[in-house]
Amino acid sequence: METVFINGSMGEGGGQILRTSLALSCITGKRLHIENIRAARRKPGLARQHLSCVQAACEICAGQSEGAALGSQVLDFKPGPVRNGDFSFDIGSAGSASLVIQTVLPALFMTEKPSTITVTGGTHNPWAPPFDFLSETFLPAIACAGFAAECRLVKHGFFPAGGGEISFTIQPWRQDPSQTIDICEPPEEPEVHARIYTARLPAHIAHRQEKLLCQSGLSIKNFEHIDVMDSDGPGNCIMLRLCARDRTTIFTAFGAKGRPSEKVVDEVARLARSFISSGATVDRFSADQLLIYMAISNSRLGGEKPAPAKAGGAYITNDLSPHLTTNIETIKKFLPVNFDIDKQGQIHRISCAPA
Ligand code: ATP
Repeated sequence: METVFINGSMGEGGGQILRTSLALSCITGKRLHIENIRAARRKPGLARQHLSCVQAACEICAGQSEGAALGSQVLDFKPGPVRNGDFSFDIGSAGSASLVIQTVLPALFMTEKPSTITVTGGTHNPWAPPFDFLSETFLPAIACAGFAAECRLVKHGFFPAGGGEISFTIQPWRQDPSQTIDICEPPEEPEVHARIYTARLPAHIAHRQEKLLCQSGLSIKNFEHIDVMDSDGPGNCIMLRLCARDRTTIFTAFGAKGRPSEKVVDEVARLARSFISSGATVDRFSADQLLIYMAISNSRLGGEKPAPAKAGGAYITNDLSPHLTTNIETIKKFLPVNFDIDKQGQIHRISCAPA
């Protein structure tokens, strides 16, 4: 069995290198040896969320791991054949449920029958995809290439209390040569919709944030306030949903104790404004998350099936983040694909092709 050696300190040096490596180890059947896990973080090594990702990867393929312990910076992972099933994972902290899903989702698309996953943890965490982003931005984007899944928010979980729950139903990938992730059409001017979440917090916070959003210079079509009743702890975030004809892009900023609402509004408004004015088709977060699906669509997985005739795939992003470039490097260690980064003024066209 071939072993892929990964240096977790490369590029961005965070948890995504681990998650992408686990996902592709499951899919390709190659063993993974990773060192310097999360070397660029203040507390390097496996945190609870990352440990849950390793455990989830083991579970879906009866894999074996060595070094799966809190704080560990070295991991050996030996995958078995990926199986469909009904899986449930409990992170046991406010670690992001979305990031556990990010680890196992690509491999569960590769099975012959549907699967379900339920993950307990954070559903709305800073520095991770919030549930709404998964549901409205990410899943519709990968559906373009035949990756069909549905998700449901069972219970809200905000950082730091966690305790939320997300469930996914995943259909086997139907490889259709006419389908690919090709998101390059210049977007029409999107409608901007605001969504403010508060949980266990006074209503005036949302009112104030709405007022500040009105003064942000963005033309916001409507405001939605979701006063969350089912969360274990307090939480607040502001989402700007940019809705174009066939695409919704969600930007989120999180409130926290002692963080003025001005800062939260400013952060989310800046993200939205720079995306809209750039002419990009894909936001900076989708930009790193779509890469693995583009790569899978371009690869001869299992060696038997030829790569689809209309493989490829491309998008245009306004932010060449270290997550994006590091994820490309990680993917290329497992799959024979090339990514091209074409700088076009302030934006970048990212495309993928078989190597
Ligand atoms: P670490 O603690 O090592 O930084 P991590 O495991 O929490 O790492 P990262 O490696 O930083 O995570 O990866 C975070 C992932 O979450 C990336 O795929 C990024 O695109 C995604 N993400 C972060 N913020 C958002 C957001 N606001 N909306 C959507 N996705 C997001």
